[in-house]
Parts: sequence; C-alpha cells; structure tokens
Amino acid sequence: MPRIRFDRVEKSFGRTLVLPPLDLTLEDGEFTVLVGPSGCGKSTTLRLVAGLETLSGGEIWFDDRAIGKLEPKDRDVAMVFQDYALYPHMNIARNMSFALRLARQPKARIDSEVRRVAEMLNIAHLLERKPAELSGGQRQRVAMGRAMVRDAGVFLFDEPLSNLDAKLRARMRTELAEMRDTIDKNMIYVTHDQIEAMTLGDRIVVMNEGTIQQQGTAEDLFANPVNRFVAGFIGSPA
Ligand code: ADP
Ligand code: MG
Repeated sequence: MPRIRFDRVEKSFGRTLVLPPLDLTLEDGEFTVLVGPSGCGKSTTLRLVAGLETLSGGEIWFDDRAIGKLEPKDRDVAMVFQDYALYPHMNIARNMSFALRLARQPKARIDSEVRRVAEMLNIAHLLERKPAELSGGQRQRVAMGRAMVRDAGVFLFDEPLSNLDAKLRARMRTELAEMRDTIDKNMIYVTHDQIEAMTLGDRIVVMNEGTIQQQGTAEDLFANPVNRFVAGFIGSPA
C-alpha cells in the first residue's frame, strides 16, 4: 500500500482556480476523510487522484511513483461514486465481477473473490438477484463491492451515502466504521457531513474554498480547532 503525497497540487477550470497549491500526506493504511462544504473542492481532489481530471500544477505521489500523468487504469485506485450506476441487466455477482472479467482473471479466482467481498459487505445472499430487486442500501453495498473486488492499493469514496435516507445513512455509517477496521487499505472518503467524518476518519482533513484548514483526529479537531471555520464546521464549543 502506498503512502500518498500531494505536492503543490493545483487545479483550475478555465480561469477559475479551484485548488490553490495543496500539500497533503496520507500515511499508509489510513482512512482519511476530506470534509467541507459543497463546492470546496473535495470531488476535484479525489478525481485528480483517480485520473479523471488532469493536474494544472504540482504532482501526486504514491510512494516514489509520480502518478499525475498515468492513465486511470494504471494508477492502482478504485473509486466508488455518489450515483452508483449498476448494470441493470446483470445480476449482482456479474456486476461485482465486471472488472475482474475484463482483466481476464481465472473464473475460480473471480468467484472466490466476489464471495469474500460479498460476505464482508453482507450481500452474499443477493448475488443472484438483479439491481432493481435490491434496496438503496443494498445497491450501495454492491457499488462498494464492485470497487473492492479489485485489489487496488487506494480506495476513493465520493459521498457514497449521500443518496440514502437518514436512517439508512446512519446504519451504513456504523457498518462502514466496522468495515474500516477489518480492511487494510488506504481509503480517501469525501463527505460534507461532519458526523460521517468524525465517525469514520482516522485522519480528518477539513477543507474550505480549496484550502486545507486543519487536519487531525476527531479529538484534535474538536478539542483544538485552529480557527472559527473549523470550530463552526465541526461544532466544537471553542
Ligand atoms: P465539492 O466536491 O467539494 O462539492 P467540487 O470539487 O465538485 O466541490 O467543486 C469545486 C469547485 O470547482 C466548484 O466551484 C465547482 O463549481 C468547480 N468545478 C468542479 N468541476 C468543474 C468543471 N468540470 N468545470 C468547471 N468548474 C468545475
Ligand atoms: Mg463533490
């Protein structure tokens, strides 16, 4: 698993600078949450890691490998999107195995990998069903499973719970927190939801308007917010 380092990362769309030079290091095996209000640059940051946007400046490093110019498929990342489009005509097993089948992995290996991940996500009993027969929360787990069967070093989550209702979101949050402790991967998780961030993050990075305001554990941020923005956003009394 690589250590991820953002080195003076910049992104502009036309003349609009969305990310001024951004420096950030994520240690090996950490569950990092990027949290901040809508429009602050969270998705853009994630998309730069995934290779879905090109850098306007700086570099992203996975250990000593510069990945900024690599094709998405060569980056060792897997991304779970907010609007998890599953293939409606394929059953859950085939949805989950899609990338592995494309990579022409042996069938026995694909089957055992799909089963392992499905059991971890508690969807093993749904493998023969079609997406339309599943609830929103189950579909969300399939979308995660589809990314997780790929043995990527880095998993990227862009607001994966934001389309769920409040009750289901709370349940998924708890399940993710449990899952987090059993998966030994680098994860970068983007959300605008403070509770999600505080529950899930080993490290929490608070962003506003493209800049990092503060990073630390939930306890650090709550006890010692560096400014009013962080205090207000985290809801700490300071
Ligand atoms: P977040 O995910 O934190 O809500 P984004 O990274 O999606 O924020 O967006 C950050 C800023 O960049 C916003 O002002 C948004 O309007 C702008 N932006 C994002 N993508 C594009 C794009 N493809 N073209 C122009 N502006 C964009
Ligand atoms: Mg976003």
